[in-house]
Amino acid sequence: KINNPAILVNDLSFHYGEKNVLEHVTMEVKQGSFLGLVGPNGSGKSTLIKCILGLLKPQQGSVSLFGEKVQKFHKWEKVGYVSQKANSFNTAFPATAFEVVSMGLFGKVGLFRFLKSSDKQKVWDALKAVNMEDFANRNIGELSGGQQQRIFIARALVSDPELLILDEPTVGVDIESSESFYKMLKNLHRENKMTLVLVTHDVGVMTNYVTDVACLNKQIHFHGNTKEFEESSSEKMSAFYGHHVHVIHHDHDHE
Ligand code: ADP
Repeated sequence: KINNPAILVNDLSFHYGEKNVLEHVTMEVKQGSFLGLVGPNGSGKSTLIKCILGLLKPQQGSVSLFGEKVQKFHKWEKVGYVSQKANSFNTAFPATAFEVVSMGLFGKVGLFRFLKSSDKQKVWDALKAVNMEDFANRNIGELSGGQQQRIFIARALVSDPELLILDEPTVGVDIESSESFYKMLKNLHRENKMTLVLVTHDVGVMTNYVTDVACLNKQIHFHGNTKEFEESSSEKMSAFYGHHVHVIHHDHDHE
């Protein structure tokens, strides 16, 4: 079981009415990898993620999670998902960051007053993992977009998932904050040995933090490790994106 891929997508096709969005997508995400799933806006990334989570049923092909067909998969507590829409969480709601994270244990706020001390510890651990312990007692609405996004990730982490999928987590976050955000994800990945999938239309700095890259535009145009991605010609990537792509190399590995 240990060798089953976290995600296996097999010859999956999906269309909304007449519109083909995914065509014969086959993709394997190994346990313990950190995949950047990239593609321009409208390339079908969110649709693929919804198929992976069993929220949409593809007209053709199949999805397995940890070796189990998604229709039969029942260990959803293993799977964390932070959607693009996490930002539309009603942040005027008078909940502290701590309370929002505790929602990950119970699905709703309000029960936090009755948390066992072991559960409180889980909430603190999740806050620590995203470097937000100092903000535990702040109202969620007072935090910046990037800080809120960290809290939503902590909310997903608190149930100790083995697979965490993040859909465009840095939209609306400035480049500097998104770099520190990616750094945090890389540490999280390293320390928790979980499988991470980061969905983004922005190929720029992301490639310095992930272990693997998959390029999607209806079909999978590239899937390989970061090194292979950086070696694949920039003309090819630019053709894929329809504009010049500058892949930025840093030496974060020596930090
Ligand atoms: P991405 O996440 O890469 O931006 P999406 O999976 O959201 O791409 O969308 C892929 C294509 O499918 C887009 O052209 C989008 O307009 C279309 N689409 C998405 N959701 C729906 C829907 N519910 N009904 C019809 N078309 C949709």
